[in-house]
Amino acid sequence: MIDSSEWARLSYVPTTSDFERMLRNAALRVTRPRVAVLSAVHDHPHADTDSLIDAVRQDFGEVSHQAVYDVLRALTAAGLVRRVQPTGSLARYEARVADNHHHIVCRSCGAIVDVDCAVGRSPCLTAADDAGYEIDEAEVIYWGRCPECAAATSTARGG
Ligand SMILES: [Zn+2]
Ligand SMILES: [Zn+2]
Repeated sequence: MIDSSEWARLSYVPTTSDFERMLRNAALRVTRPRVAVLSAVHDHPHADTDSLIDAVRQDFGEVSHQAVYDVLRALTAAGLVRRVQPTGSLARYEARVADNHHHIVCRSCGAIVDVDCAVGRSPCLTAADDAGYEIDEAEVIYWGRCPECAAATSTARGG
């Protein structure tokens, strides 16, 4: 069986029954809002809560803000969804979990893209000095400007 971290790499598009199975595997009861939110996070990587609420409403009809917040919290706690919150940004959610990939964030427009670990699998988990902590996640965020914002700035400078 393909796990969720591989789905992001493959072009495989998970179906409703895949989402239901993921919920059951995580010992979560299968509910319509949970399937809807999980599906929305898969379709919109790095979306913030408001964008996810919009996406869920488009596909599944009226859902309250609070319901979506609650589901996101449950999915994150269960490890089905990863919460990313760059400094100064709203919390974003993604379905690519468990591979400890990093992010590049645009300082100008806030766009976020995935970037694999620099070397091998999760090498950043090996801290130079772990100070006795049991480390289970390394969060690395690369900051810069996306191609669109960089192009816009150089055009403005040039003309
Ligand atoms: Zn940008
Ligand atoms: Zn990501």
